[in-house]
Amino acid sequence: MTARKESSPAFARIANRIRLEGAITVADYMAEVLISPKHGYYMAGEPFGTKGDFITAPEISQMFGELIGLWFADTWYNMGGPTTINLVELGPGRGTLMSDLLRTATMLPGVPGFVQSLQIHLVEISPTLRKKQKEALAGYPVTWHEDLSSLPEGPTFFLANEFFDALPIRQFERAPQGWCERLVTLSDTPTGAEETTGAESPAGDVSPSLQFTLSPPSKAIETLLPSCLREAAEGAIVERSPLASSYAHEIATHLDEQGGAALIIDYGWITPTARPSLQAVRAHKYHPVLEQPGAADLSALVDFPALIESAEKARCKSHGPITQGDFLRALGIEQRAEMLRRNGSDAQVLDITAAEHRLTALDQMGELFKVLALTSQGLPTPAAFPKASGHEHNKDTSC
Ligand code: SAH
Repeated sequence: MTARKESSPAFARIANRIRLEGAITVADYMAEVLISPKHGYYMAGEPFGTKGDFITAPEISQMFGELIGLWFADTWYNMGGPTTINLVELGPGRGTLMSDLLRTATMLPGVPGFVQSLQIHLVEISPTLRKKQKEALAGYPVTWHEDLSSLPEGPTFFLANEFFDALPIRQFERAPQGWCERLVTLSDTPTGAEETTGAESPAGDVSPSLQFTLSPPSKAIETLLPSCLREAAEGAIVERSPLASSYAHEIATHLDEQGGAALIIDYGWITPTARPSLQAVRAHKYHPVLEQPGAADLSALVDFPALIESAEKARCKSHGPITQGDFLRALGIEQRAEMLRRNGSDAQVLDITAAEHRLTALDQMGELFKVLALTSQGLPTPAAFPKASGHEHNKDTSC
């Protein structure tokens, strides 16, 4: 696929980099598009909501954050109610989820001391979104971090909703000559050969555009793939996210050393899969991945088996993944929706029913989105997860 000629700042920077270094990996392309300091998609804009490019569960309904608040309160209680605990959210967006969670936590008479124990830490790379989070969480003491390396010691809860799907992935393709890495390069397409966006190219000039290419085959790629996919048929594409795996490992190591639990919610695979899922979304519609970099969100399905494998290398237990629909129903979304409807206007009643459906229905977010929990040794199976779901560490869960 070849993208049309572009002249956006993000395109210019990526094109320069390719001219200097040669073709870049899909992971480098994603990082350039999403989080490069000046023009990254998340760095300057605010992509969420009906007027933005996509909508996330906490932006659909307060019920999402409220039920997650209950889950953490229950887990805290099962830990013996520590007097202080870090509550770390990764990629908090507008801060809506944390704000709903904290409001619920202040209203739980059954778990005295819970809300007072919470020390809020947000891992956020975008200055624009940090500002939004500050507004949403005014009145709460909050510490921001670039990554997990600066987190304080002590028992910790981690929460990540639609964070892992934004982390860069590499793509590997089974070509006739063997496993190759998919790369992004520049093609110099003569103007007029295809429609262009019209800027700065007199007729006859070459109009550069981005396109995919393949690296030479390499035996070393096989070691990066789950064993069950190494013999995949020609044309298969396998995605791996080294950054996602390293986040999962760091979270699990922190939990093992300090105690606590993590809740990871995202759309993703539950078995290793040889299909590409990288997608661009703009104004709630799919967009070509290499076109107008920076103007659309880029994300990929989360590889849950890879996260579990990395987490269990640290001495951590994993639970699930279960579907978001099952998770929210087990925590009582039906009852909560009913309560809210009782006090709502006619319009609110319709909204609440629509939101409940959107979050839980099989053809909406209920099945595609999965929930994975990680717990430190000694904690019981957390609420909403089937009792036999805990994996012991060191089991080969990758295939
Ligand atoms: N959790 C929010 C937002 C999800 S969008 C919600 O459910 O609404 C992804 C979030 O992760 C954004 O806040 C984005 O700025 C942040 N993010 C993306 N890549 C990141 C990275 N590499 N490090 C830290 N934060 C990142």
